[in-house]
Amino acid sequence: MSDLQDLYQDMILDHNKRPRNRRALDEANRRAEGYNPLCGDRVTVFVRLEDNVVKEATFEGSGCAISTASASLMTEAVKGKTLDEAKALFKKFHKLVTGGAVETAEGPGLGKLEVFSGVCRYPARVKCATLAWHTVNAALEEHDSEEPKVTTE
Ligand code: ZN
Repeated sequence: MSDLQDLYQDMILDHNKRPRNRRALDEANRRAEGYNPLCGDRVTVFVRLEDNVVKEATFEGSGCAISTASASLMTEAVKGKTLDEAKALFKKFHKLVTGGAVETAEGPGLGKLEVFSGVCRYPARVKCATLAWHTVNAALEEHDSEEPKVTTE
């Protein structure tokens, strides 16, 4: 149980209970849908991108606590970031939850997102934690064409 408590840290529980930015975004100019068949998590990510800066990011969807909290924290993390910064953040986060080496002496430099560091010990949960990130990454790479669909499989 202590291991699980370690995984489900307060911040994750809080963001699951009260997700931030959980709504559709009418003024979005990028969006993508993600699905994690392993757990049944679904997420739609909405992004308003202006001059290569994420002005707003929101999500809708339903899934387990980890996927909901991760989507909530992701929308907070990417807001105000440039396209390149948001993509770099995705790569860092992915590395964190898959147990990749930390590059700097100060740690991963991911702030709040580091609450997900315990996820790397639960391989089945990695996809829950990264779903919203894969999805926002797809939304940011979209070029006005049809809506991309992401699946973690
Ligand atoms: Zn899940």
